[in-house]
Amino acid sequence: MQSILHYINGQLVEPRSGNYLDNIDPATGAVYSRVPDGDGDDVNAAVAAAEQAFPAWSQTPAEKRSACILKIADAIEARLDEFARAECVDNGKPLSLTRNMDIPRAVKNFRFFATAILHSKSETHMTDGQALNYTLRQPRGICGLISPWNLPLYLLSWKIAPAIAAGNTAVAKPSEVTPMTAFMLSEVCREAGLPAGVLNIVHGLGAKVGAAITAHQKVTTISFTGGTVTGREVARTAAPMFKKISLELGGKNPNIVFADADMDRAVAESVRAAFANQGQICLCGSRIFVERAAYEPFVNRFVAATQGLKIGDPLEAGVDQGAIVSKPQFEKVSFYVNLAREEGGTILTGGSPPPTVNDRCKNGYFFTPTVITGLGPNCRVNQEEIFGPVTSIIPFDAEEEVIDYANGTAYGLSATVWTQNLPKAHRLAERINSGTVWVNCWLLRDLRVPFGGMKQSGVGREGGDEAMRFFTESKNVCISVS
Ligand code: NAD
Repeated sequence: MQSILHYINGQLVEPRSGNYLDNIDPATGAVYSRVPDGDGDDVNAAVAAAEQAFPAWSQTPAEKRSACILKIADAIEARLDEFARAECVDNGKPLSLTRNMDIPRAVKNFRFFATAILHSKSETHMTDGQALNYTLRQPRGICGLISPWNLPLYLLSWKIAPAIAAGNTAVAKPSEVTPMTAFMLSEVCREAGLPAGVLNIVHGLGAKVGAAITAHQKVTTISFTGGTVTGREVARTAAPMFKKISLELGGKNPNIVFADADMDRAVAESVRAAFANQGQICLCGSRIFVERAAYEPFVNRFVAATQGLKIGDPLEAGVDQGAIVSKPQFEKVSFYVNLAREEGGTILTGGSPPPTVNDRCKNGYFFTPTVITGLGPNCRVNQEEIFGPVTSIIPFDAEEEVIDYANGTAYGLSATVWTQNLPKAHRLAERINSGTVWVNCWLLRDLRVPFGGMKQSGVGREGGDEAMRFFTESKNVCISVS
């Protein structure tokens, strides 16, 4: 059975304890590889390597850093099929998704930040003939980068690329649930000639490896993506040490459909927004609000389109819905669907695992995409993040009312508005408290724009200039000219 290894100081190494965890293929429920059960000793070794690598890497000219990171992008792209298959098996998502979205987007992340550093600017201010001020941006040192299982390589590369492009060194921790593509990335980094210690990848449980990274004195910068409860724990550890932190957390995103929307697009994209990646994208629209005049036809079309999604073996072509990532996540989805019943909801479609997928997948964690109506906006199912293929549809009568619904959760990650009335779209975009508002689209991403959440969806912004600022310290140099 394949053993995943840590990547520390340029070497692929076993965990110091010698202990491993099972890595399960969620489509079959079977253990298919082993992942290091890393601990504080492994983190200490990774931090020591990152510390040693920092002086040379931070002084390496941007052009050379860029060339090295571009080689990483090229190497992933050259092995696209291998990466896509590995992520499909590790995560349970359809191969078409890993091939067309996850892995190409990871390549883009490396390319984007590798070239961004070649065009960085700094500000200069003359102070009334007295002084010249300029802003000097410098790498911060060792960055701790912690990511979740839902978009494994994509989200990890979204952190690694800007951190090392800016001249930092890093200790990264992928989710223990989906470690395989991060392991493949370490092999790619070795091939691409990334100097030893610039990037270190330590595998293992959050409570051991993640907590050790967060608590380490020498890790001054933490970029974390994951659940809100974990984010609170990370913040609690990091705050007294005055670390710079970015937290990208959960969501319960509203998808608002007005009666004047282009219904063909609104239905098709709302289905995608609800169920892409089995509903396991932080940006999924899990609360759908539909203006009453369009409610009934929308619900009928939405249910029909949902029933048309093909659930199947993630490795097979033409599959829309693969497996839920793990047994605990499958159980969480089942719990919330039962809760929806208890709360008085009507399950229009789904609500249970599918009868059969195929023989290979008979023990996998599959769940039929589920559409619920009849629940109020304040019940638990419409307030708590489920993070699975479950969506709830609620009618509304007025603009003010739906703005209240949209803002009426603890979260504020993203929102989508479907309308052909542009002034109305602008009004909603201004008043909905979320980090992203999509109008007549969903999941379109421009890597230059700020990305992040409001309220309990997080603090800090990533993406483009925001990421380059996050991963650098800005210093004011003030020179007297009088
Ligand atoms: P999680 O919080 O359980 O784990 C995320 C990462 O943190 C994992 O690598 C985990 O091992 C680690 N971790 C766990 N405990 C830790 C601790 N005490 N200290 C440090 N690290 C620790 O989240 P998950 O279940 O892997 O991912 C799902 C969650 O991620 C959802 O809530 C989803 O909304 C969120 N998410 C947010 C975004 C975003 O951009 N806002 C993107 C993707 C996913």
